[in-house]
Amino acid sequence: MARESIIAVSDLKKAYGEVQAVAGVSFAVQPREIYGILGPNGAGKTTTLEILEGLRLPDSGKASITGLDVVRNQRAVKEIVGVSLQTTGLHDNLTVEETLFMFRAFYKNGQSVDELIARVNLLEKRKARVSSLSGGQKQRLALALALVNDPKVIFLDEPTTGLDPQARLSIWETIEELRDAGKTIILTTHYMEEAERLCDRIAIMDGGKIIAEGTDKELLGMLDFSGTIEGPLNGLKEQLQELKKEETTVKVIFTEDRFYLHSKDLVESLRQVLGKFEQEAVKDLVVRRATLEDVFIALTGRVLRD
Ligand code: ATP
Repeated sequence: MARESIIAVSDLKKAYGEVQAVAGVSFAVQPREIYGILGPNGAGKTTTLEILEGLRLPDSGKASITGLDVVRNQRAVKEIVGVSLQTTGLHDNLTVEETLFMFRAFYKNGQSVDELIARVNLLEKRKARVSSLSGGQKQRLALALALVNDPKVIFLDEPTTGLDPQARLSIWETIEELRDAGKTIILTTHYMEEAERLCDRIAIMDGGKIIAEGTDKELLGMLDFSGTIEGPLNGLKEQLQELKKEETTVKVIFTEDRFYLHSKDLVESLRQVLGKFEQEAVKDLVVRRATLEDVFIALTGRVLRD
């Protein structure tokens, strides 16, 4: 690899009693990358992040940021990383600007409160109390708190969980601006669309382990199909069975009243499916390209979200 890693993690392990939350995790992040850790609840994402942030000690393994060991150089690491608080950690009675002044005071160097408020588009909410903010505005404030010390590396734990699509999009844009401004970002998510849209590389985590890693293209390339056609059977199960013989068909799955066809060539398969329906009105036919959800299912046999 040409560039030197800014974050290096090697065989990290952490158990809580009987639960092996992190079971030997290794990865490296390059400067100015957005690196995503994608996985279901309980996969060990937060624990991994907390070890890197110096909030938890690993049982074994090593992690370093800009060459500084996160256990031995905790203080120095804290100066160069920014951590987005869960919104539940914000004080309801403080205003946006009071919250930022309070956190800003912990650091000698960093961005001014004015710059921070502008960066996360909270200008009109400057004097508003945290309790009056929407979910999206609270997430923006949490993001601003991660920037108070103008960190090189930013950790974002599920930055858009629970937000509506518009609020999510605006957080994504801010995260992209931070990357363009030279920051390195690690984020955890259980939204595959978020990982696909934002992340330069993605680690898929399950049961405390990274089970696959790469760009979204590389991960999607692990599948033997490029997309799925889904629709109602309309009493045509037998005719649809015939599609199993087509070269472009990878697999056809039938449920009681629907079919799912995994295809190597969606356009060609769609023609074939429509051919089977002939005069029937085909309502409710869904054509979708393969996603990281499909990769997760292929690797684990389970869906990402329950
Ligand atoms: P989520 O998306 O739900 O936050 P996660 O991928 O971030 O999930 P972790 O929070 O790291 O996963 O949790 C990994 C495992 O460790 C889970 O089984 C969880 O119940 C357990 N766990 C996490 N924190 C603790 C703790 N402080 N004490 C005991 N068990 C814990």
